[in-house]
Parts: sequence; C-alpha cells; structure tokens
Amino acid sequence: NDPKVRSRWSRVVLKLSGEALGGDNVDDPVDAKTLERIASEIAQVKEEAGVELAVVVGGGNIWRGTNGTAIGLDRVTSDHMGMLATTINALALQNAIERHGQPTRVQSAIQMAELAEPYIRRRAIRHLEKGRVVIFAAGTGSPYFTTDTAASLRAAEIGAQAMLKGTHSGVDGIYSADPKVDPSAKKYETLEYMDVITESLSAMDMTAVTFCKDNNLEILVFDVSISGNIIRACQARNIGTLVR
Ligand code: UDP
Repeated sequence: NDPKVRSRWSRVVLKLSGEALGGDNVDDPVDAKTLERIASEIAQVKEEAGVELAVVVGGGNIWRGTNGTAIGLDRVTSDHMGMLATTINALALQNAIERHGQPTRVQSAIQMAELAEPYIRRRAIRHLEKGRVVIFAAGTGSPYFTTDTAASLRAAEIGAQAMLKGTHSGVDGIYSADPKVDPSAKKYETLEYMDVITESLSAMDMTAVTFCKDNNLEILVFDVSISGNIIRACQARNIGTLVR
C-alpha cells in the first residue's frame, strides 16, 4: 500500500488542452518538443502505469469559439471551427505517439471518414482492451460545449474511473485563489465536487465538474508541463488536486 497512491484506476481519460501542445512556442500552434515529450509519456503509460488510456484533446491553441464570436461569426459556426481545431491536434498527437510504437486510433465526434474513425463507443472500448490509445477528436460534436465536458462524457460512456485534467500554465492543481495573482493562495490536495462548484474554483469547466459529480468520476487536476506527470497521474500519485 503505497501512501503516495490515492486511488486505483484501470481506465482513465486524459484531457489535454490545445495549449498544452503549444508549449512556450508562440509562433506555431504545436511545439515539436512539447508534442514529442507528451507523446512519449503517453506511449509509456501502458507499461509504466498499466491503465487503459483514452485522450481528449482541446483546440484552444488553434481556435476557440470565442475567437469567432469576437469577429462577428455566429457561435455555432465558430464552435464547429473549434472542433475542427481539436481534430488537427488529435492527428498530430496520433502521429507522434505512433512514432514510439504505441498503436492508437482517432475517433471523431464529427464524421471525417478519410482521416478518423467515427466515434463508436463499443469500438472505442474494444481498442482500449486491445491496448490501443484512443484519441477522441471533435469534442462532443455539438456546439456550446467544451472539450472538458467531452472528456467527462467520454469517460462516463467508456466506463473510465477518472478524468485527468492536465493544466499547462505552471499551476499544478486547484488553488484557493489564482496563485499567479495572490501569493498566499493555497493548493488543495483533495476537494469534494461541491467545493469546486460552490466556491467556483476555476480549473475546469463547471458543466464538466457537475457531470463528473453526477456520474462518480474522479477528477485529477495536475500540471502536464512537468515531465513524468502524465504517468504519475495515471498511477493516481500524489500530484495536483484530486476531486471526488
Ligand atoms: N468545442 C465545441 N464543442 C465541444 C468541444 C469543443 O463546440 O464539445 C469548440 C469550442 O468552440 C471550443 C473549441 O472547440 O472553444 C476548442 O475546445 P476547448 O476550448 O475545449 O479547447 P482547450 O481550451 O481545451 O484547448
């Protein structure tokens, strides 16, 4: 019984924001070194952590719904553009992971038969059972949602026990206030769902938190920019903030 291990998961969904793939690179949406590091960690998960892993990737490094509404596009169109952005990231991630010899499948919530499988729940589960990493693209397939919500939805659908939410801004969990603004902000080791909801502790989309609460999905918020943290998160090690 390792005291540093806080839970036992056999299947998890990792949520990577688009910006997590951008690293410090301000010129390109995807940073080669960051992509490579994240892909190599994901490729090691099966061996090191022994859990089945699905990944939901965001698109904020390329396009967000709010980018379009700010220039007068309608919300639905702009959200469709955002979902396409997540697919660009999913393909980059797939390619990078497979360079490490780890088989993957991309399943898209919006049909793009030439480049990704359609999202089919039972097929996704089968891929996981066979040891493949499944990357879910295009969020939920519906506008007005975020990829945080998509990650919690997919986690519930495929019977995962946890959603691992990787942050990338050097903030390794949920704090009592924004640690970059308020140096006295305290990091929480664990929280209950209701604490996150009632205190509006920002780390994640509230729709996703509520969904996880209703469906008993544990949430681990952790800093994905620290090398080795993806594997630690999959092992439920004592990093970040665990919400349950
Ligand atoms: N999006 C959407 N429905 C979804 C998921 C995403 O419409 O189910 C759109 C939305 O416009 C969002 C964009 O895709 O702004 C990129 O996703 P998100 O903001 O979650 O990416 P992240 O911030 O994680 O990179």
